[in-house]
Amino acid sequence: MKKILQVVGARPNFMKVAPVHTALQQYTNVRSLIVHTGQHADYAMSEVFFRQLNMPEPLYFLGIRSGTHTGMTASIMLEFERVLIRENPRLVVVVGDVTSTLACALTSVRCGIPVAHVESGLRSRDREMPEEINRLLTDQLSEWLFTTERDANENLIAENIPADKIHFVGNCMIDSLQNCLPLSDAGPLLQSLELHPGAYALMTMHRPSNVDDREGLERVIEIVRLVTSRIPLVFPVHPRTRDRLMHFSLWNQLTGIEGLYCMDPLGYLEFIGMMRSARMLLTDSGGVQEETTYLGIPCLTFRRTTERPVTVERGTNVLIDSLSAQQLEPHFIDILEGRGKGGEIPEGWDGHAAERIAAVLHQAVC
Ligand code: UDP
Repeated sequence: MKKILQVVGARPNFMKVAPVHTALQQYTNVRSLIVHTGQHADYAMSEVFFRQLNMPEPLYFLGIRSGTHTGMTASIMLEFERVLIRENPRLVVVVGDVTSTLACALTSVRCGIPVAHVESGLRSRDREMPEEINRLLTDQLSEWLFTTERDANENLIAENIPADKIHFVGNCMIDSLQNCLPLSDAGPLLQSLELHPGAYALMTMHRPSNVDDREGLERVIEIVRLVTSRIPLVFPVHPRTRDRLMHFSLWNQLTGIEGLYCMDPLGYLEFIGMMRSARMLLTDSGGVQEETTYLGIPCLTFRRTTERPVTVERGTNVLIDSLSAQQLEPHFIDILEGRGKGGEIPEGWDGHAAERIAAVLHQAVC
């Protein structure tokens, strides 16, 4: 049996690894093992995804708790090295752009084990984003680079990555979305909130640049005031955002706004159900930009740049380049009044990306 070790660490990783793990099961001479670094470890940000995405328990749980990027990177590397020495896999698969992605890619290469990167080549060109540094360095370390959109191939070529290492496979996050949509159901939550499909907006917000300082959070509160003056707003609050709101004593100010429904982060099935029935999404998430493009739901993204340009060029995504209610307003009104941007589903976002990834990985190890 050839071992392929897949790394998960944070919320956006689970929906990318799950379909690849499933697709690898069809190869009887390959064994896919999952290692969880523990970067996100609580029920709402981790365990619920294993259950809902039908993933097996991770073989190793490294138990690395949040800390500074540097501390976390160092701790993950030390623990992951032990796993690599013990398991000696043929290759390691890392996904996305979180701290665990780079830490495990670097450890693997140091141990002489080649790395495959899923969701490679995305670039925001904003090096102040920690994720951008993770993406750039992980791609330089990887032997197999799986891309979700054509722009990503061009980015990698421009960075002198040899073309034969790059595989345009489409988007395996959309595989999970397609698999799980029939199981998703916003009904119970909508009922408990007394909201109706198509008659609410949904928000996620957690990028450090938006939520880490008081000014950013005050702007978020202004945005919430604008949105709720016209339509109810559902806001599952990321733990980072909640911590920062508490830290600046702004939590009560936010949650007191009429028409706002704050809650803990939702499970995947609940969230995609809520997304599918929403009038619009307001977000700074990476993955949500893609999922809304697939679902054809208008998405307003509070970022100066996006590493996922296809969601703007082809999809329903619009960038709002400053965290400002004033900048948001015309786009928000357009959507409310039925003039929102339409879109189409990008190439290769067809529910079969993980099979294409698994085929390349199988060939690589056998
Ligand atoms: N998501 C979820 N529950 C929520 C908010 C988001 O399951 O309350 C899912 C969402 O559908 C997407 C992923 O989490 O699949 C995105 O993760 P996140 O926004 O944390 O990370 P990013 O994509 O920005 O790196």
